[in-house]
Amino acid sequence: MKIKFLGTAAAEGVPAIGCRCRVCKLSRALGGRNMRSRSQALIDGELLIEFNPDTLWHSHAYGFDLSEIDHCLITHSHPDHLYLDDIDNFRRDFCHGRDRAISFYAAKDGYDKIKEVSLRPWMGGAVTPHLVDAGKAFTVGGKYKVLPLPASHNGDTSPVFYSISCGGKRILYAHDTGYFPEEAWQLLEDEGHFDLVSLDCTGCLGLDGHVYVRHMNFSLCLDVIKRMESLGLVDEKTVKVVNHFSHNGGQTYDEMVAEADKHGVTVSYDGLEIEV
Ligand SMILES: [Zn+2]
Ligand SMILES: [Zn+2]
Ligand SMILES: [Zn+2]
Repeated sequence: MKIKFLGTAAAEGVPAIGCRCRVCKLSRALGGRNMRSRSQALIDGELLIEFNPDTLWHSHAYGFDLSEIDHCLITHSHPDHLYLDDIDNFRRDFCHGRDRAISFYAAKDGYDKIKEVSLRPWMGGAVTPHLVDAGKAFTVGGKYKVLPLPASHNGDTSPVFYSISCGGKRILYAHDTGYFPEEAWQLLEDEGHFDLVSLDCTGCLGLDGHVYVRHMNFSLCLDVIKRMESLGLVDEKTVKVVNHFSHNGGQTYDEMVAEADKHGVTVSYDGLEIEV
């Protein structure tokens, strides 16, 4: 399996809209990997994770064709993960020469919102919503086994994160979530070994002392990795990635790398591609 991190920021992006904090000013000046668009990933060039306001730009920047994408997993209904106005743009009278539907998979709140768009008279069956539920595995595209796990995030957004398996390999995409709820740990134990984990690091190094509940910072990510190691879910061969950064966390890409390197953890950046 190959995962490409198309975007790696929290909702505001880095540098953030209208912000002149230290991280944003420094990131603007340094450019390169310090510049982050909103979080989104693509598996094997065909399975999209999240549909955010940077989706169109990502397809232009990385040269993948949205008319070829048939499946998209949504973690929850916050707009930096689910941008409904662009789902409406799959309408039949705007998408020429495409007669199949794109399937979106989301838990209750995201599902209800996507369904409302899909039923608009101009959509013509262009979008198919699928309701997912934490703990209930399903198959996507005849080859990906996907298990939604309950996330520790705003309940009104029906948050889940995903274990995705294919061809004997397994990836954990865990955004947005705080330290995993116990129900998630039970489900993870049944999943077995992961070849790659991508963990929520909204709070960066967490030096501000803020207590993260609905997201994580680097030290919480290390706690998750440690517990996963003790359960045999990750080992030295597992690629450990931290991802979904906020400027409010307080560190740029370069500053995150300096610390994460000491722990054998990869700091994501826009365009990072990893094959497991
Ligand atoms: Zn987010
Ligand atoms: Zn800022
Ligand atoms: Zn969120």
